[in-house]
Amino acid sequence: MAPITKAFDYIVIGGGSGGSGAARRAAGWYGAKTLIIENGRSGGTCVNVGCVPKKMTWYFASVNETIKGAHNYFYDIPANVKFHFDQFKKRRDASIARLNGAYENNWNREGIELVHGTATFTGPKEIEVELQDGSGKVAFTAPHICIATGGYPIIPENVEGATHGITSDGFFDIEELPKKIAIVGAGYIAVEMAGMLNAIGVEVHMFIRGDTFLRTFDPMIQETMTKAYEDAGVILHKGHKGFKKVERLDNNPTSASHGTTHEKRSDGPSPEKLLKITGNDDEVFEFNELLWAIGRAPEIKDLRLDRIGIDLTKSGHIATDEYQNTNVEGIYALGDVTGNVELTPVAIAAGRQLGNRLFGPPELKSSKLEYNHIPTVVFSHPEVGTIGLTEPQAINQYGKENIKIYKTKFTAMYFDVFSPEEKTKHPTQYKIICAGPQEKVVGLHILGEGSGEMLQGFGVAIKMGATKADFDRCVAIHPTSAEELVTMR
Ligand SMILES: Cc1cc2nc3c(=O)[nH]c(=O)nc-3n(C[C@H](O)[C@H](O)[C@H](O)COP(=O)(O)OP(=O)(O)OC[C@H]3O[C@@H](n4cnc5c(N)ncnc54)[C@H](O)[C@@H]3O)c2cc1C
Repeated sequence: MAPITKAFDYIVIGGGSGGSGAARRAAGWYGAKTLIIENGRSGGTCVNVGCVPKKMTWYFASVNETIKGAHNYFYDIPANVKFHFDQFKKRRDASIARLNGAYENNWNREGIELVHGTATFTGPKEIEVELQDGSGKVAFTAPHICIATGGYPIIPENVEGATHGITSDGFFDIEELPKKIAIVGAGYIAVEMAGMLNAIGVEVHMFIRGDTFLRTFDPMIQETMTKAYEDAGVILHKGHKGFKKVERLDNNPTSASHGTTHEKRSDGPSPEKLLKITGNDDEVFEFNELLWAIGRAPEIKDLRLDRIGIDLTKSGHIATDEYQNTNVEGIYALGDVTGNVELTPVAIAAGRQLGNRLFGPPELKSSKLEYNHIPTVVFSHPEVGTIGLTEPQAINQYGKENIKIYKTKFTAMYFDVFSPEEKTKHPTQYKIICAGPQEKVVGLHILGEGSGEMLQGFGVAIKMGATKADFDRCVAIHPTSAEELVTMR
């Protein structure tokens, strides 16, 4: 083991959303002597291979959708407007590089030290770091250590040649769009990526086990979105039995670099790629790309948690209590590595609350994040927003007789000038789930244009305990889609 180089008040392993939130609260607000250890690019998943490049690509796709619909507003737009995805990708990469710098500047300004390398526990309060520049190992100690190492996208182990496909990490390496892509998965990442690629002209096939995707969402969202994707041209292989073999038919098996924050686990995307994919039912397909979006696993393998006896959950995530404590005193975990609501603002908020609790004034000594009523948006085409209980969950929790459901579906005004056939392809649907005699709003599910921006404000109201009567007391903003939410009967 390397000799201890330096002692800190607080060591944060991982400079992603959660790690940054945790360190900045401790150092920036309370002056704790803090170290961040990061073995990838600063900002972690969200900035480099998650929310940020995803949302920029979603905007790229939305521009194309607007262009395609512009003839309805009597714009003479040529049928095949050219776009340059490679140039957009370069611009997107440059924005992200700026964000990496901004993260590090903020840390620097707040007196946080940063070491680029891979952290491993050598004792409950001791961390050894293999430096990224190859110059060797250094060791640090602190009474408080926060693990915020996130997760990585899974590639199935039981499919021969599975690593010829890419994951969401590889999606962000695409420079030249594949003509035809297979996407395996039914979660929000699969749905978002399918929506973006379909909107920019890629032939998208989604392989899902059930009949609908977004299976953890309210049934209204599952059913309407699955149909909307089919109407938009995504080819859905429902009830699919999975793949057993992936072979590369082109002569370029070692393709493009795969420069993401996580280990290079698979072939990168390549314009020449041609894959032969055999299903468990022996059906054979050919695709230019295969994207696995089948879930994420916690990034813990380098940490050597076994050395200090940290408990894991059944799914292999780090087990914590509601205060982010692990079972080992002075060691905390938060964000995706705990598997508890894997979203950026959740990781940041958990980090801030932990900082308040550990280093803040006495009145904040029992600070913790409330994990209920967290608003979530899927950047699909169209967007989905959801907060609180789904209808089946509400029935389960309150009993069918104690809940009241308000629902509406309509065509957003933007699509009024579209042909009747086109209009049906652009649904807007809202559902409010209320419980008890007061009709407290316990669930809100919305899909349609602008849902992402719309949900945040309603999230505040619901977090405050709004009832249906409170919704109704708010005067509508006209003409908007959102006004339907305060005028529902
Ligand atoms: C494609 C995609 C789209 C997403 N879109 C959204 C979205 O729209 N909205 C949203 O809220 N969330 C989104 N998410 C989820 C969001 O990105 C994560 O919830 C969030 O980044 C989790 O933050 P974290 O700090 O827990 O982990 P991360 O951001 O993953 O940070 C962990 C960091 O730890 C580093 N690390 C790991 N092991 C070690 C080690 N041993 N030593 C040193 N460093 C280490 C890693 O390099 C990484 O930088 C998306 C995720 C993906 C994959």
